[in-house]
This record gives sequence, C-alpha cells and structure tokens, in this order.
Amino acid sequence: MLKGKTALVTGSTSGIGLGVALALARDGANIMLNGFGDHEGAQRAVAECGVKVSYHGADMSKPAEIEAMVRACEREFGTLDVLVNNAGIQHVAKVEGFPPERWDAIIAINLSSAFHTTRLALPGMKQRNWGRIVNIASTHGLVASAEKSAYVASKHGIVGFTKSVALETATTGVTVNAICPGWVLTPLVQKQIDARAAQNRLSAADAKKDLLAEKQPSLQFTTVEQLGALAVFLCSPAADNVRGVAWNVDGGWVAQ
Ligand code: NAD
Repeated sequence: MLKGKTALVTGSTSGIGLGVALALARDGANIMLNGFGDHEGAQRAVAECGVKVSYHGADMSKPAEIEAMVRACEREFGTLDVLVNNAGIQHVAKVEGFPPERWDAIIAINLSSAFHTTRLALPGMKQRNWGRIVNIASTHGLVASAEKSAYVASKHGIVGFTKSVALETATTGVTVNAICPGWVLTPLVQKQIDARAAQNRLSAADAKKDLLAEKQPSLQFTTVEQLGALAVFLCSPAADNVRGVAWNVDGGWVAQ
C-alpha cells in the first residue's frame, strides 16, 4: 500500500518508533530513521523489509538540525509522505523540585519538535495533495498523573496541536492524527519500572504488575506491533476522513 512513499519516523532507533518504522516498511514505505543509540541495528532491521532506508542523527531539541533532517529526507528520497512524530523523553519529579532544564528539554523534544517537522514537511505534502502526519502522544495527552507535569503538558500540547493542524488541512489529502498509547514495555518505561522496584523493594516482575495495576485495567502492555498496525491503518485510504483524532490504545486506562 505504501510502496513508493517515504516515511520519516523521529526517535526510531528503539521502542515504539522502531516498531512503527518496521510496520510502515513492511507495508512498502521507504524509511528515514532518527534517534540516538544503536541506529545501525535499526537500519539493518528495516532494510530486511526490502525497502530503502536512511538515517539522520538530528537532535530533536534543535530546530536547525530538524530542518537539516527534513531537507535530507526530501533530497535522498525525493519526497516525504508520512511523518511520524515519535521522539520523546520523560522525567518524573514533583513540580516544585522539577529541574527547569528537564522541563525545557521535554517541551522541546516531545512537543516543539513536532511543530518544526510539521511546518517543514507540510508544504510538500500539500503540493502532492497526499500526506499523513501521525503524532505519538500518550494517554497522558488525555488525562494526567502526578509527578509528570512536563510530560503531561507536552502530551496535552501535542493532542491540541494535532487537532489544530488537522483543521488547517481538512480539505486537503493530508491527514493529521495522534495515537495515545498506555503502558508499552520500552526502555522509557523500563526506567520507571526499575525506579518503582528500587523504591518499593519489589522484584522486577512485581514492579511490572504494580505499574500496570495502577492505571491499565487490561493488565497487559500495549505492544509496538499493535501501534505499528494502527499507524498503517491511519496511512490507508480507509482513514482518508479520519482527522484530528487522539486514539487511545491503553487497555482501558482512560475509560475509567
Ligand atoms: P524509547 O526511549 O524506547 O524511544 C525514544 C526514542 O526517541 C529513541 O529512539 C531515542 O533515541 C529518541 N530520542 C530521545 N531524545 C531524542 C532527541 N533529543 N533527538 C532525537 N531522538 C531522541 O521510548 P518509547 O517508549 O518508544 O517512546 C516513544 C514515544 O512514545 C515517546 O514520545 C513517548 O512519550 C511515547 N509513549 C510511550 C509510552 C510507553 O509506555 N512506552 C506510552 C505513551 C507514549
């Protein structure tokens, strides 16, 4: 379905970003990866899907590097059709002790980066009258948790941004939507499980159960494959008129 299209997935060297990149690649899209850490492993995994793959190491907190990445994608592949804004970080602390530099980093990486990629990618998408922008928000874009003020603010922000740009593009072939995962077992969440195990003197298995029981009624982690399949659906013709949604995949978290 996505053969001949190009997808740029930010923060795709691990976790959800890599899962979404692989799902889009299996559907035929060429992929530009981004993120820190082991990008060669991610590149190999995507290449095995039989599509073209490239990598750009832009730091998503730096607008000039984001612009260089979008331009590199258009130059290397000739087009940027699917933009997945996924890069994100977390920091857990009460607001009065929240380090201001962590606040700034979370807002820059989780929220402002999507503004920059979107403003740069949109003109080409509009010109071709086809495009898909998928923002990986969170259940924390819909409801809050204590000690996550910056993350919750950034994720509520990206849900609002999604709706606004969906309205601006409503009469075009470009759609803009958000996916709101509940707990997914990725490095970002593993850190929180480790902290919980240490703080409450729990085994790793009990810390996992504890984390799920607190918020996610299904008691199951959402998988990166499930999120990848939803992203592929949002890129399909069946989703041509799905605009501005914030679709939770959260085992019932926000139904409570
Ligand atoms: P992860 O830590 O596995 O992946 C984060 C990715 O972002 C990595 O590729 C990392 O290198 C990249 N990244 C971090 N800072 C960057 C920067 N400055 N510039 C470029 N890349 C950067 O985390 P994940 O759980 O896969 O999270 C991916 C997205 O999903 C995030 O936006 C996160 O908020 C969201 N999310 C995760 C969960 C979950 O339970 N894991 C739930 C809801 C939403």
